Amino acid sequence: MARVRTIAIDGPAGAGKSTIGALVAERLGYLFLDTGAMYRAVALAALRRAVDPDDAETLARLARQVLISIGPPTVRDGRAYTVLLDGADVTWAIRAADVDRVVSQIARVPAVRSAMVEQQRALASRGRIVMVGRDIGTVVLPDAERKIFLTASAAERARRREEELAARGEHRPRPELLAEILRRDELDSHRVVAPLRAADDAMIVETDGMSVREALGRVLSLVQRPVAT
Ligand code: C5P
Repeated sequence: MARVRTIAIDGPAGAGKSTIGALVAERLGYLFLDTGAMYRAVALAALRRAVDPDDAETLARLARQVLISIGPPTVRDGRAYTVLLDGADVTWAIRAADVDRVVSQIARVPAVRSAMVEQQRALASRGRIVMVGRDIGTVVLPDAERKIFLTASAAERARRREEELAARGEHRPRPELLAEILRRDELDSHRVVAPLRAADDAMIVETDGMSVREALGRVLSLVQRPVAT
């Protein structure tokens, strides 16, 4: 593992990237960065300022103005990390349904992406990081030493999302969650800049029917395996 500086984990919404990524980072003593939280924070800032999700120019300015910081949990309420937006704790606010609805529209704006990618690369430059998202292995860190593409069927991902929300006392019907996931898959996979796709050199992990423990074991075994020369 000595030479593994960066681990990229990509995949569609609800594939378990954040859960598995955070556990991999904890196990290895690496920093964890969930880049989805950054796009969600920009989306929340846009919603709060009533910015039109199609107004690319204002969104680009906003993405450069807001201060997003992601760090270790500051409250013990089940969060994996704390997200601050201009100094205020938005860890749960960025998970709200209205953010789910607009985030992919905002994340497709090229200048929003470049503002986020710049910050992501700066964090990765120190090394020993597990970064999760949609375009980490393809665009953000194309030289990552380990690339995992975590995926599962849409039905399984909707089921997990329902469980995750229920654990926080939030109830949304599964068909609605499935429709939301399919809509985000569609937008994320077909945008012009940095679409969701597995890097050519990514190792694909299909997690249908796997428990978190099993998926973690599988990802750790791939991450820790010696590099083929
Ligand atoms: O991972 P999560 O579902 O929280 O990400 C929210 C949204 O942010 C995604 O649906 C996608 O539109 C966007 N995103 C992205 N690139 C990333 C991470 C997330 O475009 N690297």
